[in-house]
Amino acid sequence: MDVALLERTLDELGEPRFRAGQVWSWAARGAQSYEEMTNVPAALRATLAERVPFSSLTVEREATASDGTVKALFRTEDGRPLEAVLMRYRDGRRSICVSSQSGCPLTCTFCATGRMKFGRNLTSSEILDQVLHFRRIEPVDHLVFMGMGEPMMNLDAVLEACDRLPDVGITNRRTTVSTVGWLPGIEALTAQSRPIRLALSLHAADPELRSRIMPVNDRYPIEAVLGACRAHFAATNRTVFIEYVMLAGVNDSPAQARELAEALGPGRTFKVNLIPYNPTGMYDGSPREVIAAFKAVLEEHGVHATIRLTRGRDIDAACGQLAVSSARDAA
Ligand code: SAH
Repeated sequence: MDVALLERTLDELGEPRFRAGQVWSWAARGAQSYEEMTNVPAALRATLAERVPFSSLTVEREATASDGTVKALFRTEDGRPLEAVLMRYRDGRRSICVSSQSGCPLTCTFCATGRMKFGRNLTSSEILDQVLHFRRIEPVDHLVFMGMGEPMMNLDAVLEACDRLPDVGITNRRTTVSTVGWLPGIEALTAQSRPIRLALSLHAADPELRSRIMPVNDRYPIEAVLGACRAHFAATNRTVFIEYVMLAGVNDSPAQARELAEALGPGRTFKVNLIPYNPTGMYDGSPREVIAAFKAVLEEHGVHATIRLTRGRDIDAACGQLAVSSARDAA
């Protein structure tokens, strides 16, 4: 829901300002339509239904995986595709993975979104409407900006959405922004005061290898990016999550694990999340034993590491797969 449009429309109708708050609070609690908003006069509900679209997105397709993961493919009003995922965990946690852009201008070689045409930044309403879509299914409590796009290139809209997420049940502490290492964005996130979690997609500690698989490393080199992450930890005392996608024979050797451990150092500044790769093109994923061995080397060096649980593989909803089906649609 475009809250700015809602407020403008209510002003034009001569309605009191508190109406916007009423409408938003219904939407944030998962209302299915204006109809449900029983403390808003029926005539006004009908007018709003005509003038303020209940969602800025239309659902084009939705699929549920055997593990309960739900993936939705949306379109913006101007026809741009984007996807979001609801992940359900046994402990009751409900986490949403949202897109910040339709497509992505960066060209990481292992990522399907990088091969899709870049569309545009999403608005804060389009980000929130992904969340509200799932909120209408059930209560949600965590969110990661790990869908399509680079959130740090659209940080204003991302932060604007973050300001409304607590109304939906997702506090800023349970919100994670993941970046390729877009330096000005990391610095801006550190400079503001919301307690949002920072995650860095690192994928290689060797600068040359990193530049090969993530060309953005030429623009914002790894040393500078890790420096900004250390400054983030120093300023916020919040551990920075390092994402490391395990590519067979590319970045998964014990020597590369040692190199990563040396780049990060022991302590609480960083925590590594090893991501089993979902083949979407030119690489194979590392076998399970190789990932376990890599993790063991990190831990020997005092670097805390976990292996990410893969969700929703059978519906192409796993990490990095989001663009696959929509790219197929666009083709
Ligand atoms: N642009 C941001 C946000 C996208 S997050 C970023 O790169 O951090 C998407 C995460 O999924 C990144 O860590 C990315 O490296 C990872 N990823 C991309 N393709 C993947 C794939 N096929 N399998 C597993 N992880 C993938």
